[in-house]
Amino acid sequence: MTSHYPWPEGKRAALCVTFDFDGESPLLWRQRNDPPADIAELEQRRYGPRRGIRHVLDVLGRAGIRSTFFVPGWIAQNYRGAVEDVHRAGHELALHGWLHEPPAALSDAELRDTLTRAADLLGEISGSRPTGYRSPSFRMAPAAFGVLAGLGVTHDSSLMGDDRPYRIGELVEVPVDWATDDAVYYRYTGAESRPPAGADALYAAWRAELDGARASGTLVNLTMHPWLSGHPARVRRLADLIHHAQAAGDVWIGTVGELAAHHLALGPGAPATEAPLDTIGWPR
Ligand SMILES: [Zn+2]
Repeated sequence: MTSHYPWPEGKRAALCVTFDFDGESPLLWRQRNDPPADIAELEQRRYGPRRGIRHVLDVLGRAGIRSTFFVPGWIAQNYRGAVEDVHRAGHELALHGWLHEPPAALSDAELRDTLTRAADLLGEISGSRPTGYRSPSFRMAPAAFGVLAGLGVTHDSSLMGDDRPYRIGELVEVPVDWATDDAVYYRYTGAESRPPAGADALYAAWRAELDGARASGTLVNLTMHPWLSGHPARVRRLADLIHHAQAAGDVWIGTVGELAAHHLALGPGAPATEAPLDTIGWPR
């Protein structure tokens, strides 16, 4: 890397703490045609909107940082009070489908309709329409970018093509990484061949990611789920990680929307990747 990315406030690296507020919506989408009699995973996932979100908001509030919450419309409809509390605490609300539908599973019209419905509801809750999107399960389709731009969305946070913000078509991409997704470590629904990672192991792994970013001048974009990371031992270690970033002094911490706006303001001179829309699909 020849020149360092100019993070906000002249910092050396950046940290976005984000939550996909999924609850049971991914399961409802997956099983929509054959709902099982078993309710075990439904209840496990409902921990997120019922309890996990309370522990998460508590930790974020005490740390004094603002996060981005990607909220399926169905969750905002069914757990409206919890989503109102997220907004009231100062966090960014952003799109995550209506019922956690991956864009490639929908026609353009279906994607537009589901996201419009979700944007209307999130806008009603927060007073302004969301301008950010994260695709369910990080699955993305090139055609989705045009649909998103048409809905007034300015930034996406679903892809892994860089470790700094970059442009895809008209949108700013604030990239993610499987290594900083809690589901990789914590997701356990009773059938997996390995137990969930411990909170200390995840803390060590993510602290290494953060220190790597500080050495290289890059972004760490944590993706967490209240039904997974909202448990007490896990939020405690998240608080420790945020404290480590704050104590380091060289890490900018903020929302995905703030970082995307910063990237847009840098203009074409920024040392960053540009990916025109017609270059991101499968080569033909
Ligand atoms: Zn999700």
